[in-house]
Amino acid sequence: MKKVVKFGGSSLASADQFKKVGAIIHADENRRYVVPSAPGKRFSSDIKVTDMLYACYDAAVKGEDFSEQLENIKARYQEIIDGLNLDCSLDEDFEIIRGNFQDKAGVDYAASRGEFLNGKIMSSYLGFEFVDAAEVVRFNDDSSFNDEVTNDLLSERLKDMQTAVVPGFYGAKADGTVVTFSRGGSDITGSLVALAAHADLYENWTDVSGFLIADPRIVKNPKAIETITYKELRELSYMGASVLHEDAIFPVRKAGIPINIRNTNAPEDKGTLIVESTCRQPRYTITGIAGTDGFASITIEKAMMNSEVGFCRKVLQVFEDNGISIEHMPSGIDTMTIFVNKNTFEEREQKILSDIQRSVHPDHMELESDLALIAVVGRGMKSTRGTAGRIFSALAHAHINVKMIDQGSSELNIIVGVKHEDFKNAIRALYEIFVLTQI
Ligand code: ASP
Repeated sequence: MKKVVKFGGSSLASADQFKKVGAIIHADENRRYVVPSAPGKRFSSDIKVTDMLYACYDAAVKGEDFSEQLENIKARYQEIIDGLNLDCSLDEDFEIIRGNFQDKAGVDYAASRGEFLNGKIMSSYLGFEFVDAAEVVRFNDDSSFNDEVTNDLLSERLKDMQTAVVPGFYGAKADGTVVTFSRGGSDITGSLVALAAHADLYENWTDVSGFLIADPRIVKNPKAIETITYKELRELSYMGASVLHEDAIFPVRKAGIPINIRNTNAPEDKGTLIVESTCRQPRYTITGIAGTDGFASITIEKAMMNSEVGFCRKVLQVFEDNGISIEHMPSGIDTMTIFVNKNTFEEREQKILSDIQRSVHPDHMELESDLALIAVVGRGMKSTRGTAGRIFSALAHAHINVKMIDQGSSELNIIVGVKHEDFKNAIRALYEIFVLTQI
């Protein structure tokens, strides 16, 4: 059995965190390939090393003196090295980095040093071989990611390696120019290593015990989700729940490798297992609740709209022509409502309204802003009667007016729209009815 383990920044922010990580890796000899992030925050007002690198490089590009900033970054690593009593020096690396910053080696190069250096420390701490991601994670000349070449390079390199440390977040073009993924991209590297190593499991270690059923900033101590399918995850992530980088899913999903989200600070917790499909019944009817604020709706009314061929297409065309993506589209007999992201819509609001006017001549149009959408997601809903009823009664009891409801035909989710001021109370009411009071 082979496991790939990725550790996030907060799991590697200090020597004490490194020790926890070491204990986790040594507790299971299947944990053979390690993907580290850069050191994250040690306390809430702390600064991530990646952000320090961006700021330091910014100063270098402006021609300012960046010595002190670079020293502060070095001090972060030195603190870890000293705390672990390691016989390893990053002096030479920092001299090279200083020179490359002076030569303006690129912002991606700068940011990638966070993972590169942490990988070196990790490799010396564990006694695992270090593999520079620039040699095995390949980007094309236009900076897009090349999955095929990466998989070939990585599999070839890991083939005969019993253990290895591959830093996350970056790779390079064929000419050696370093390119990073978007922020949080070490999750992607972990997934790529799992695919290339034919791992049985991709463990993603972070600072929460998996995906929580609801946002902990809204619901107090929400329970963790034990097992979730990729489809459910997609629905929840769309609505803003985030623990894992979205692009990390594709490589392992394709290969049927499950992801296990685990907590470095509570390694005894089982975390959340993300799988393609499962016959494990979820503990509750719902798997999770997530929501996002900041939507606007445009309701278009026209008598006999239903018999006018091409009506919907013409309306949708207006949004397409204005480059606005539509989030939801509930409709009535003579009305259709379009939900859009409020901020992007606002910029083109008057143009869109006049385009609709010209295109379909509605009787009436109504705009509403400050709306929130909440998704109640769960594979268990398909086989349970009364879910919609429970949603409505929970919201009614909490005195919340439902502005719209939309059930996907997969019966995997029900989306409700509420006013911004009811958003948090609605989530609390739904959590209470599905998790606290009923199983
Ligand atoms: N260190 C990078 C960031 O802060 C990448 C990562 O942690 O995944 O975004």
